[in-house]
Amino acid sequence: MRDETKCLHSGYTPGNGEPRVLPIVQSTTYVYDSAAEVAAIFDDPTRGLCYSRFGNPTVMAVENKIADLEGGVGAMCTTSGQAASLLSILNICSAGDSIVSLPTIYGGTINLFSFTLKKLGIECIYVDGNSSDEEIKAAFKPNTKLFFGETIANPALKVLDIERFANIAHQMGVPMIVDNTFATPVLCKPFQFGADIIIHSTTKYMDGHAVQVGGVIVDSGKFDWSNGKFPELTQPDESYHGISYTKQYGNMAYIIKARMQLMRDFGVYPAAHSAFLLNLGLETLPVRMKQYCENALAVAKYLESSPAVESVIYPGLPSSPDYALAQKYLKGCSGVISFIIKGGRTVAAKFMDGLKLASNEVHVADIRTCVLHPASETHRQLTDEQLAAAGIDGGMIRLSVGLENVDDILADVAAAMSAV
Ligand SMILES: *Cc1c(COP(=O)(O)O)cnc(C)c1O
Repeated sequence: MRDETKCLHSGYTPGNGEPRVLPIVQSTTYVYDSAAEVAAIFDDPTRGLCYSRFGNPTVMAVENKIADLEGGVGAMCTTSGQAASLLSILNICSAGDSIVSLPTIYGGTINLFSFTLKKLGIECIYVDGNSSDEEIKAAFKPNTKLFFGETIANPALKVLDIERFANIAHQMGVPMIVDNTFATPVLCKPFQFGADIIIHSTTKYMDGHAVQVGGVIVDSGKFDWSNGKFPELTQPDESYHGISYTKQYGNMAYIIKARMQLMRDFGVYPAAHSAFLLNLGLETLPVRMKQYCENALAVAKYLESSPAVESVIYPGLPSSPDYALAQKYLKGCSGVISFIIKGGRTVAAKFMDGLKLASNEVHVADIRTCVLHPASETHRQLTDEQLAAAGIDGGMIRLSVGLENVDDILADVAAAMSAV
């Protein structure tokens, strides 16, 4: 099946006389005929459902749909994108380990990596993506467990050279984790370029309607965990009566361990109703992504021609330094544009306050056009140095182009622009 078809049919196939639409299974628990059957599920949780902290039929249908869209062997939904980032790392990192990441990532992820993971004893080493392969490899330590990057970085909109960084990660014996939130599997499938694990904030385009926060981790099933660096996956798990995930679950070791161990202990599993809403969003994802890309390209071209604008960052513009990477990896550049208005912070605020259709809100990838000022909002915890490394200027505005008629969006932007 192609993406459009998968979005509508994957994950749930009703039997004779069953509901056409994915049902919401609103139950915390599941009934069995005997104590022995329940015991068998404790031995091997993949044999059936036991409790909705680990799995629920509505959520699992959506997990299977997303795994299918990304081309992975399995997926696990979480209550937020932040929870997905955290668990994707804790699944293979412990105190005393390190991770290597590009600095051009979401502000919340920078906080997680630089402060909270540090408190847990996990060091994040940032590498400049413009450095040579040799320089990047030199940043890896013997205790480094993964390489992290974002397909289209929020908000710097740098396009990740997935193949290059996945090759470097593999040469260093670690998996490449890619945050594919902005691209969604419709615009980019990172597994096809060598990524091993994908995470998403489903809050953004996948949900699409700004109705609920959520996340997901997807496993490609391709990484070889038996190279000696990942004993937690290959050696007996004391907390699960001594099973070895790679021995028992083969190429699904990573994603099953994440569920059996981390979801069991952290309990950040979404409610069935949230998964139902996410599924509604996913059903129309390919149609929406196409229109977001079209609308945003038109707005980016307009901004580029405006004398009040210093620069526009949109990898779909032929003038963008990332245009070639975008052509290689993306089927479109999503609806998010970052641009720097002349005059810095004050003019940026004045422009944003002058918008009538587009709203000021802490969101991105909403179905409605919205704006945000990264330096004073999502990224306000960062130092000036970190801001510069993340590619953020005081006059930078992040404009998330929605699905209104593009002429209405352009008229709104033009009116606010003429006011400044
Ligand atoms: C929003 C976002 C996150 C965090 O997701 P939440 O659902 O808000 O927890 C992570 N990565 C990227 C790229 C994001 O845009």
